[in-house]
Amino acid sequence: MKFKINENIKNPVIKKNSLSVDIAFSTYCNLKCYMCYRQYKNMKQEIMKDDFYNKFLEYIPYIKELNLKNLGEPLTTPNIIEKLKTIKKINPEIKIRLTTNGIGFLKSPDFMKEVLLSIDTLILSLNGIGKTYNAIMKPGNWKSIKVVLNKFKKISQKLPENFDSQISFVVMRKNHKDIAGLVKTAKKYNFKKIFYRRMWIHDRKLLEESIIHDKELYNAVIKLIKKAEKKAEKNSILSDFSQITDMSCNNKKPEREIICTAPWDSLAIKANGNVHICCLRRTLIGNLKKNSIPEILNSEEVQLYRSGMFTKNFYKECAFCHKISPSTKYFYEKL
Ligand code: SF4
Repeated sequence: MKFKINENIKNPVIKKNSLSVDIAFSTYCNLKCYMCYRQYKNMKQEIMKDDFYNKFLEYIPYIKELNLKNLGEPLTTPNIIEKLKTIKKINPEIKIRLTTNGIGFLKSPDFMKEVLLSIDTLILSLNGIGKTYNAIMKPGNWKSIKVVLNKFKKISQKLPENFDSQISFVVMRKNHKDIAGLVKTAKKYNFKKIFYRRMWIHDRKLLEESIIHDKELYNAVIKLIKKAEKKAEKNSILSDFSQITDMSCNNKKPEREIICTAPWDSLAIKANGNVHICCLRRTLIGNLKKNSIPEILNSEEVQLYRSGMFTKNFYKECAFCHKISPSTKYFYEKL
């Protein structure tokens, strides 16, 4: 990817269907998963107020990918189906990706179907099978999530061919033995892909769960990954282990000229209107109450993120980001 520094790069005109936006309409959650940062941070629970929401709707034509994820469980958003339908009506080309623990789908018989018909990608957080699920995704239980999985299997037959369905699995000591078994679960319930993720370490007790701080455990995980890869290939399930296997711990500077385009085309918006450049959400770059999205994207602060990409003097969180130093062991440590 080659970019030339010109005015349009410094102050881009925001085009229709060009932005990737993470949005948290709600920061409530119905589960207390063992490894979730919510257990370790004093997080305010809130629902996006109507004035922010209405302001946000003005920018829907400019968004190409809307990610409902992070900070809360999106299915706790009041009137979610109505909101999804409104967004699709304003911009029929938008792609909506929903990351959820799935428990909210048990709300009413047709709720899941209506949600799935209004989105393009479902990413189900499933961090264990059977008893492991019960131990991690509390107070959820395997019996309930199996109802959701069976419902999905049934509805998936009626979804468009290009509907994308993924399972997201955070690998830790407690669940590493389920790595290969998850392929069977994905196949059984008609999911297309499994994304195996690294765990963020927010607390000393999570260090014990980390698969990268224990060499023996890490080697055992790698063996299981090899087994899972073969199984996935045989069952036509896509599997992504890159977050686990990219562990060479070098600190090489990226060779590509622009390693991340987030300062040009990405935003993460919280329920209180606070805006960050990307899902790391470290630096506040504006608030929808006071600033418009074009104002935020052309602010001095965002220019610093952009120039960092050219000069390689990466600005703030970029300097520690896995996109810049993909293999550092410490990137996931937030102690
Ligand atoms: S922190 Fe990472 S993802 Fe965010 S803008 Fe910087 S390089 Fe990109």
